[in-house]
Amino acid sequence: MAVINFFARSRQLPWKETLITYFDEISDTGPDSAPFRSGVWPPDVPAHPLGLDDDIFEGEHPHTFYFCLNGGTDRNLVMSGSRIDKPMENIKESVFDRRYWPKTAPHSWPANRTYLDHPQNVRNATVGILANQADDFLICGDCDNTFVDTTTDDTGCTCVSWHVEYPCVQVREYPPYPSAPSLLNKGVMAMQAFAKDEIIGEYVGLLLPPGRADPSIRKNVFADDVYTIDLNAAVIVTVKGEETSMPGNKIADVSAGWKGNWTRFINTSPRKGNWNIEFEQRLVADKIRILVRTIRDIAFGEELIASYGTGYMRTLFGDNLGLPDMN
Ligand SMILES: [Zn+2]
Repeated sequence: MAVINFFARSRQLPWKETLITYFDEISDTGPDSAPFRSGVWPPDVPAHPLGLDDDIFEGEHPHTFYFCLNGGTDRNLVMSGSRIDKPMENIKESVFDRRYWPKTAPHSWPANRTYLDHPQNVRNATVGILANQADDFLICGDCDNTFVDTTTDDTGCTCVSWHVEYPCVQVREYPPYPSAPSLLNKGVMAMQAFAKDEIIGEYVGLLLPPGRADPSIRKNVFADDVYTIDLNAAVIVTVKGEETSMPGNKIADVSAGWKGNWTRFINTSPRKGNWNIEFEQRLVADKIRILVRTIRDIAFGEELIASYGTGYMRTLFGDNLGLPDMN
C-alpha cells in the first residue's frame, strides 16, 4: 500500500508524530511508515502534496482540509450563489445575526416565544403566554436538572462537559455514490473508538429564518440546503396527563455550508444496518442543540453514518421516546 490516506488532525496533534505512533501501534515498519520515520520520501511512492512538514497545517483548523482518495489533501470549499469556492469556516457555536432575520416573525415562530430572540434560547417566552415556559419546567437532557433563571440563587443545570470534548475524527473523501459518480463524496471517519451513547459533536451553523437557505433564492449568500438541518422550538405538551417538553415547529434553519464544523460532512445511508450515529435535539445548558450521539460502539476507522430519522425529532430532552407525532 503506497497511499497514506489518514492523518490524525482533530486534536491539533503534530500529524507526523501521530502517524509514527500509529504505525508503531500496528507494527507497520514497511513503506507506508518509512518516509515518516526517516524523513525521506521513497522514490516509488507519489510524494505527499503537503510534504512531511508539520508546519503545513500551522494555524489551520484541523478540518479546513479533507483527505482525498489519492492520498492528498484539498481545502474544504463551499459553492453557493454569489460565493463560489469560498473556504468553509469552522465555528464552535451556532451564529445568530439579527440582520439576516425579517422584521416580522416567520409563520413557524412559536406564539409563546419572544421575537426576535435567539432561536436556541429556551428561556424567552412572551409575557402573558405560557409563562412557565421561561421558568422551571424545562429539563436538561444531560443532567436531568431544570433550567433556572440565572438571576436567582437556584442552581439547576450547570452542565459544562456534556460531550466528548475533542473527538478525533477526520473529514475525508469516500468513493462516490453510484447514483452520483461525478460528485465529490466527503464523509467523516472515526480516528478513535467511541462507546455507545456518547455525544461526540454538535451540529452548528448560521441560524437562519426557515427557508432562507433555499437554493432557489437568487444569489443566496448562505449556501444551499445541502448542509442545512432544522432547529425545532421546544414546546410543552401534556402526554398521558403529564406535562413534558418536546420539539415544536421549525424555528430556524441551521445552515452549515458557509460556517459550521465537521459534523456537516456526516453522511447517511438508506440501510439501517449502517447507522452508527443519530442527530438528536436536546436542551443542554439553556440551549436547544442538535447533537451527534453514537447509537452503538464505533471502532477506529469506521465512517460515521447518521440516521436522520426518529431520534432527531423525537428524543428532545432525554428520554421522551415513544411520544405521539408532533406537528
Ligand atoms: Zn444540564
